Amino acid sequence: MPQASPINRLSEISAALTKVREQVINSAIAAGRDPDEVTLIAVTKNYPSSDLQILKSLGVNDFGENRDTEGSEKSLATVGTWHFQGGIQSNKINSIARWADVVHSLDNSRHIDKFAGAVAPGKVLKVFLQVALDNSEGRSGVQPAELDALAENVMKHHQLQLLGLMAVAPLGEDPESAFQRLEVIHRAFKDKFPDSPYLSAGMSGDFEGAISHGATHIRVGSSILGSRMAPL
Ligand SMILES: *Cc1c(COP(=O)(O)O)cnc(C)c1O
Repeated sequence: MPQASPINRLSEISAALTKVREQVINSAIAAGRDPDEVTLIAVTKNYPSSDLQILKSLGVNDFGENRDTEGSEKSLATVGTWHFQGGIQSNKINSIARWADVVHSLDNSRHIDKFAGAVAPGKVLKVFLQVALDNSEGRSGVQPAELDALAENVMKHHQLQLLGLMAVAPLGEDPESAFQRLEVIHRAFKDKFPDSPYLSAGMSGDFEGAISHGATHIRVGSSILGSRMAPL
């Protein structure tokens, strides 16, 4: 595949980003919400730092990564708010706690305690609890019934700030029905934990539906940056 020239890459990303931003505004308005309530996180996993510089120049400040090494390197090259949304391995927590500003994928108490112990003095790490929208054990996310106990654990740690809930629509199910369930879970959670009212949900294929069901943080990669290139 020919390499895109820098100018072409800029216009390509700019057009795609404009379209996503318009879709965010339209779906928020259609849901009777203020579009400014929705934070767009550009998921940059597998894309080069040159793309992040382009995103910066277009006003993007929130970047999401799934892997510790990649996030750690890119966060040195690009100033912004850095989100980690990948599966958490215990031995990576010390490193993730250094470069990430927000962790979306927390789903167990041991990891909560370990993150709290790993945060640098004076820093507060923002976190979401990932809730499972299917009942298969062993996948990412906790069952809704376990959320309150985890939330209370997060709140014991002054190094952590609980923003709210995160979810991924399960494969093989219409995201609309999954996000309907999520909205109910999220309402109940916000009632109990009013200081943690945010909801991280929605990716390239389903962020409009997520916004109509209350998402405040959407994580969008391929709709902005195109199909992922094979890792170099
Ligand atoms: C990769 C990823 C995204 C972004 O996915 P796209 O389909 O490229 O928008 C969002 N959330 C999580 C948890 C991911 O792993």
